[in-house]
Amino acid sequence: MSSPNRRRVIAANWKMYKTQAETRAFFSEFLPLVAGVTDRDIVIAPPFTSIAAAVDATKGSNVAIGGQNIYWQTEGAFTGEVSAGMLAEAGCRYVIVGHSERRQFFGDNDGAVSQKARAAVADGLTPIVCVGESLADREAGRTQGVLSQQFIGGPGALTADEFSRILLAYEPVWAIGTGRTATPEIAGAAHAFLRSCVHDQYSAELAASVRILYGGSVKPDNIQGLRAQLDLDGALVGGASLDANSFAAIVNCK
Ligand code: PEP
Repeated sequence: MSSPNRRRVIAANWKMYKTQAETRAFFSEFLPLVAGVTDRDIVIAPPFTSIAAAVDATKGSNVAIGGQNIYWQTEGAFTGEVSAGMLAEAGCRYVIVGHSERRQFFGDNDGAVSQKARAAVADGLTPIVCVGESLADREAGRTQGVLSQQFIGGPGALTADEFSRILLAYEPVWAIGTGRTATPEIAGAAHAFLRSCVHDQYSAELAASVRILYGGSVKPDNIQGLRAQLDLDGALVGGASLDANSFAAIVNCK
């Protein structure tokens, strides 16, 4: 069981899926399925263009909305970017930072990740900061080295106060969108390692309180096993979050 001292978070990353109409249709099906949930946080991160529809549909509910990316400046000549303040004003409470697809396709590096996380916190958003090794890293025995490097250069560059306001997500790249999920033991070991990084960089208190989500092909039929890991405080879900019934089944996992 994950620690009872840390409130669980189940977050959805919709990536570049769902129009506004599809977003409204999703929530009319999804909200009744999770209406009774009070003991964990539920977050959905739609594409930018569907944020207003998502915020409107979830008003007064137990579901919070997040963005999938931000730029760290508050405003300026940065074509195609949005700031943390803009997302907060639009009704977002969370933002995903450093997702492996951002790192792979859009050049986000560890320095960008720490600046984005800092900007998110400054504007009252909770960043969900992602780290994770590639298959080549894992097979070469470099998992801990990569996690440590991404941690120190990214979220680990925040002040302790800033760090206390973030969520971490362990997302092994080889498990994202591949249908190949990490075993509970692999995920549990990586989470424990990340918690030790927090301990070494900050304190025992922050190591005990930081919430670490697992992401990588989470589905209704594997969430139970993952949930059994002590250091795992929730999930970041891509593909299986696009269907209301499947995401509700993950959220409702006891
Ligand atoms: C993700 O996009 O963060 C993710 C984990 O995707 P999937 O669940 O589809 O592997």
